[in-house]
Amino acid sequence: MEDYRRLTVDTVRRGLQEGRFSARELAAEAIRVGEAQNQASGVFLSFTPERAFRAADRIDAKVAAGDEIGPLGGVPLAVKDVIMTAGEKTTCASRALANFIAPYDATAVEAVERAGAVIVGKTNCDEFAMGSSNENSAFYPVCNPADPERVPGGSSGGSAAAVAGGYTPISLGSDTGGSIRQPASFCGAVGIMPTYGRVSRYGLVAFASSLDHIGPFSRTVKDAATLLRTIAGGDPYDSTAARIAVPDYPGDLSANVAGLRIGIPKEYFAKGLDAAVGTRIQAGIHTLEAAGCRAVEISLPHTKYAIASYYLICTAEASSNLARYDGVRYSRRSASSGTMRDMYRNSRAEGFGPEVTRRIILGTYVLSSGYYDAYYRKAQEVRSLIARDFAEAFETVDAIVTPVSPFPAFKLGEKTSDPLQMYLSDIYTITGSLAGIAGMSVPCGKSPEGLPIGMQILTNHFREQTMLNLGHAFEKTGGFEG
Ligand code: GLN
Repeated sequence: MEDYRRLTVDTVRRGLQEGRFSARELAAEAIRVGEAQNQASGVFLSFTPERAFRAADRIDAKVAAGDEIGPLGGVPLAVKDVIMTAGEKTTCASRALANFIAPYDATAVEAVERAGAVIVGKTNCDEFAMGSSNENSAFYPVCNPADPERVPGGSSGGSAAAVAGGYTPISLGSDTGGSIRQPASFCGAVGIMPTYGRVSRYGLVAFASSLDHIGPFSRTVKDAATLLRTIAGGDPYDSTAARIAVPDYPGDLSANVAGLRIGIPKEYFAKGLDAAVGTRIQAGIHTLEAAGCRAVEISLPHTKYAIASYYLICTAEASSNLARYDGVRYSRRSASSGTMRDMYRNSRAEGFGPEVTRRIILGTYVLSSGYYDAYYRKAQEVRSLIARDFAEAFETVDAIVTPVSPFPAFKLGEKTSDPLQMYLSDIYTITGSLAGIAGMSVPCGKSPEGLPIGMQILTNHFREQTMLNLGHAFEKTGGFEG
């Protein structure tokens, strides 16, 4: 099928309505291309052909009857394998859940299918979404579509590569400390972490509950807006999903951005930022200025404590959330189990990889009596200070623009031996996560070696519309190409 790899939501809908292809043909092509390349790309952990064809046939019947097909009608979509899809494997890229079949659909999954999307497969990721390179998958790594020797970023590496590499026009990922924005930046896709509570977490396997988000990947800002609109909103199954009306993000995309004030935090352009990335982001800021935005320097003074506080809070929450994988209620049970204690110990030791194990140990330690006040409580206090930095900044600016990652995609294996180096790469995304605000990565040109670079646009709680409008204006002026 010509141009399958460049399709967007609009071109799919148009093609279906004009009868140039059927939803079934599209689904078949998505699965064919995905399967044919998977040995090399590592993007998918499983395909869901029956589910896909069932959904596609429903769309084709609607097209034949002249009925409305929904905002995502017939569009192939990939889902990160930490998001539940009823009756399909949901492994979290972990040996512990290698054969786990999800008993129900995540609310976001239900929502995309109601909007007509065709789920074709589950994407590879870091085990339980812990990582920045996708190399913590228990099964196989993902290659960056721009350079197969490099990582796609993580933890939603498969979902980012699915979109950027031409496998599906849109996908769902999860972001706890940057796991949508950073792989979007590394692969050259649009990726959004919505405001905490904007999208239901029901059916997202918990890593760090106070930081977890489901969010979209796409090739255009408009598609991200459409997908976000579909999945946003309150949910009786998730009391943290805010019951705030969902704006018509795609409908209001073209609102004028002239006059918006853009904060440029000086702490994000200091030592450690790769020169090529700095140059591209500065150029991106100039593009926004040319569109009429006013850039002003701001300060987010507690940025330097973000990584330490994030890795205390997320490991604490992870150690608690992952206690459920005991080999009894969930997860594989070790075959070599004598006593009950051995059964727990062996099941967990065999099921979890080294990074997950490290985080459970760290998290258990920071929550233990005697250390709780010194580490966990302190980290929560710092989190409040970081949130206050943003709250103060948003009193004077409408959005904040920064790099997504200090450097473009690194080589597979380059950072695996040094977890601390890997943690440090999250510096620009983690702050927004701790504050619970909205953030997105938009493509912002390439490094001299041809590697994609993403620009981060952050806006205050529930101000996704402003973020999308800026991203859209940027895309229209050719900012994506740089
Ligand atoms: N890289 C970060 C971590 O390893 C973020 C992961 C995420 O957002 N899921 O925790």
